[in-house]
Amino acid sequence: LNIPYPDEAAESASLLRRARDVIPGGVNSPVRAFRSVGGTPRFMRSASGPWLTDVDGRRYVDLVCSWGPMILGHAHPEVLEAVRTTAADGFSFGTPSEHEVALAEEIVARVAPVEQVRLVNSGTEATMSAIRLARGATGRSVIVKFAGCYHGHVDSLLAAAGSGLATFALPDSAGVPASSAAETIVLPYNDVPALEAAFAERGGQIAAVITEACPGNMGVVPPEPGFTEALRQVTAAHGALLISDEVMTGFRCSVAGWFGLEGPYAAGAPDLFTFGKVMGGGFPTAAFGGRADLMAQLAPEGPVYQAGTLSGNPVASAAGLTTLRLCTPEVYARLDEVSRTIAGAVTDEFTRAGVAHRIQWAGSMFSVFFRDGQVRNYADSQAQDTAAFGRFFHGMLRRGVHLPPSAFETWFVSAAMDDEAVETVLSALPGAVADIG
Ligand code: PMP
Repeated sequence: LNIPYPDEAAESASLLRRARDVIPGGVNSPVRAFRSVGGTPRFMRSASGPWLTDVDGRRYVDLVCSWGPMILGHAHPEVLEAVRTTAADGFSFGTPSEHEVALAEEIVARVAPVEQVRLVNSGTEATMSAIRLARGATGRSVIVKFAGCYHGHVDSLLAAAGSGLATFALPDSAGVPASSAAETIVLPYNDVPALEAAFAERGGQIAAVITEACPGNMGVVPPEPGFTEALRQVTAAHGALLISDEVMTGFRCSVAGWFGLEGPYAAGAPDLFTFGKVMGGGFPTAAFGGRADLMAQLAPEGPVYQAGTLSGNPVASAAGLTTLRLCTPEVYARLDEVSRTIAGAVTDEFTRAGVAHRIQWAGSMFSVFFRDGQVRNYADSQAQDTAAFGRFFHGMLRRGVHLPPSAFETWFVSAAMDDEAVETVLSALPGAVADIG
C-alpha cells in the first residue's frame, strides 16, 4: 500500500491531552471527538482552498467544509479581503450597521417567501427563536419534529426519542426537563399518515411543525414527492406554522437553498425559515425569517422577545455577504460536478468490492449510507454498518482525505476543489475500500 501518511498524529495527540484538561472531552462540539470512528481527532493549524493542514504538517482534502459553511473553500481571497477591511473599521459596535442590512437584503432577495430576517449567531439560536416566535404568534405550545432531524441543541428539539403518535417524547439529553420534551411530538419522516394522525389528535395545541428542508443530519434523506406539500397543507388546515430549517441546505443546494429546488408549493410556502452555515462564510452568523406580519411579532415591534450582543456582527456579516455574492451559478455547477465525480467513484469502488452502500442526494449535497436500499427515515438510516464506515473513514484519513467522522453525516464539497484535490480523493478510494475488509 502506498500510504502517504502513516497512521499516527503525535502533535494532535499531544494537543488532545492538553485540551482534555481544560475542555470536556477536549472538544467544543461533540462530533469533533471521533467517538464513533475512534482514533485521534486531527487538530488543524491552517486551511486553504480545498486543503486542511494539521499540526503534524499533514494535508487533507476537506470533505467536511466546517460542516457546510466553507462552500468556496478555505480562506477565499475575496472573503479574506472583506474580513480584513471590515475588521479594520472595528469589530463590533452594538449599534446597527450597514453590513447587517446588506446581508439581510441578500437573503430576502434570494428566498422569495422570506420578507424579513433577524440575524443571530448560530443555527441553534435561529431554530430556538423561530420556535418562540411560532409559539408567540399562535398562542400554542406543542412542536412537531421528525426523528433524525437535527435543529441544534434547543431543549425542546433534543427530543428525538419516543415513538408512536402523539405520545410524549423522552428527552434525548440529560438536563432537558421532561416538561420541555412533553411539548414535542416526534414523528417518523416521510410518513404523511403519522402526521395526519398527530394533528387529528392534538391539532389545536400544535404551534408549529419544524423540519429540515431536506434532512441532512441522518445522512441525506430527501422528502418524498408530496411530503413537504403535505406538511404545508396539514399545518395550514390546523392553524399551525411550518418552519423550514435550511441551516444546512440554505444557499448550498441552490441559490435559494432547498426551497429553490423544491418550492414553491401549490399549497403555499413555509411560514418561517432558518439559515446558518453558508450565510456566515465560516463566521458565527445565522438567521431566521419569514413573512413580515409574523416577523413583526418580534421585539421591539411585538411581544416576542429575542436579542443578541453580537447579532449582526459587522465582520461576520461582511464575510457572509461576500460568500453569498460569490456563490454564482458557476460555483453551484462546480459543486455539482465535483460531487458527481466523487460519488460516482465511490459507487464504482464499493460495487467492485461488494460493499453494501447507498448514495442519496440533495442538490450537490450527498451522503453515503453503509447499507443497501432506499433510506426514507431515521430507522432506515440507523440500520447501517457503522463499523465498516469507521474502517473506511480511517482508510481515507490515512490517505489524505478528511471525511465527516460519522456515518450519519453529509459529505460537503467546496467549489475550491481542483483537479489535484479530486484526484487525491479518487486515488484514496481503492485502498480505503480494501481497508473495510
Ligand atoms: N439546523 C440544522 C439543519 C443543522 O444542520 C444544524 C447544525 N448542523 C443546526 C440547525 C444547528 O446549527 P448550529 O450548530 O450553528 O447551532
